[in-house]
Amino acid sequence: MRLDLLHKISRKLVNENQVIIAEDLNIEGMLKNHKLAKAIQDVSWGELIIQLRYKAEWAGRTFYQISTWFPSSKTCNDCHYIMDKLPLNIRTWICPNCHTEHDRDINAAKNILEKGLKDLEDLKNDQKISNKIEKSGLGTKSDLKQKLVESPTSVSKKLKKSSKQVGVKKQEISDSFQK
Ligand SMILES: [Zn+2]
Repeated sequence: MRLDLLHKISRKLVNENQVIIAEDLNIEGMLKNHKLAKAIQDVSWGELIIQLRYKAEWAGRTFYQISTWFPSSKTCNDCHYIMDKLPLNIRTWICPNCHTEHDRDINAAKNILEKGLKDLEDLKNDQKISNKIEKSGLGTKSDLKQKLVESPTSVSKKLKKSSKQVGVKKQEISDSFQK
């Protein structure tokens, strides 16, 4: 396990970006998988997520994970057409709807970032509503924000002034291991 490399990657990501969005780890898939190489990749990914989470917190950055089930690879980032299938060995593809050519990982990372920023925006709005409800004494806080390292309020402030954001795709990170 190349822990030093993982630290290097997470440090770089946190240093260079105000907002970092990653995919959630598919624990179920991990448990079902018995191939060693794949398992090592998954463990590395899990470790990277842990590092990103605490380093982002220390540095006052925003780290957020989108749902495992979001079709980040199969969605065209230009027109949002969703492919039925996109086998792992296909590295570039052309959207049948808008005919844009995509690099699999770059397209997926763009989708992850877009989805994450939209989720954060939704959380911010939920927070506004729940604050109002709380003030009026009618309800409790939304538990959605537990998924966030920081409260949605501070996130929204940062989103406004943030210069750089990044979406992180699992495959992309695994690739950099093998180099
Ligand atoms: Zn398209």
